[in-house]
Amino acid sequence: MSTSSSAVSTQKRLEGKVALITGGAGGIGEATARLFVQHGAKVVIADIQDDLGQAISQELGEENISYVHCDVTLDSDVGNAVDFAVSKHGKLDIMFNNAGISSPDKNIVTSNDERFKRVLDINIFGGYLGSKHAARVMIPAKKGCILFTTSVWSVIGSADVGHAYVTSKHALVGLAKNLGVELGQYGIRVNCISPHGVATPMLTRPFGNLEKEKVEELIAMGSNLKGVVLEPEDVAQAALYLASYGAKYVSGLNMIIDGGYSTTNPSLSNVMKSLSS
Ligand code: NAD
Repeated sequence: MSTSSSAVSTQKRLEGKVALITGGAGGIGEATARLFVQHGAKVVIADIQDDLGQAISQELGEENISYVHCDVTLDSDVGNAVDFAVSKHGKLDIMFNNAGISSPDKNIVTSNDERFKRVLDINIFGGYLGSKHAARVMIPAKKGCILFTTSVWSVIGSADVGHAYVTSKHALVGLAKNLGVELGQYGIRVNCISPHGVATPMLTRPFGNLEKEKVEELIAMGSNLKGVVLEPEDVAQAALYLASYGAKYVSGLNMIIDGGYSTTNPSLSNVMKSLSS
């Protein structure tokens, strides 16, 4: 167990709540699903990795956590996942639009058009569909919480991150803000969570499935906050807060979990260091 999850209180903060988590079969989504169950929620994981999703469900018990196959780019799949949650648990309190993929194309001239569209399809359109179907059942209930996993790349750009990815994460913040404006009248809160690098399969895969610890070392080299590692459980803790009663008046927020990375630009200091060495 990570230090972050072992240090929290044992009080159940999501007792009686029902959550649907897209991309919940691995990485940040899985960590959030596990934390939500620990806090008393009934969770539905919606993903395309059937074996992983079903294994988590079997481990934690069908009554606590179920798996539905759901490609977030398909309206019918997302609608079905929301309907499944409601038919099994009677309602949907928390919709976590978390599924996402990265993009390799950092050179605009050689960028692959179809790959660009695919990233936007999963990362933006998937979040749109999740919100649409969640709102359909949350509006009559006059309450609800919609969350997005965005990224530190929702507020800054980087030469080392693909154009489609940065575009998609900025766009999600816009979508979340506008949804919060429309849905506030129904008591529905909408927020984003924007982490810095986390060594999930999304980051280990592009490095040829490099060990998690090695990827963490690489992330740490470029981080602002030293001595701690950002883990999926830390992002899950942010989701727990935003979904819980403690955040009952929080809407329209992009919660950035980057150890201050986006507040500074080390370029000048690196130049000065290189001059003085
Ligand atoms: P991950 O690859 O471990 O998890 C992503 C999950 O999304 C996987 O389980 C995958 O099967 C699922 N998925 C992909 N395409 C899908 C589709 N079409 N329909 C349904 N599910 C689909 O990566 P992760 O790091 O846990 O990513 C989760 C979210 O966090 C993503 O939105 C990602 O952009 C965001 N994020 C990740 C990092 C990071 O450094 N890992 C940082 C900031 C934000």
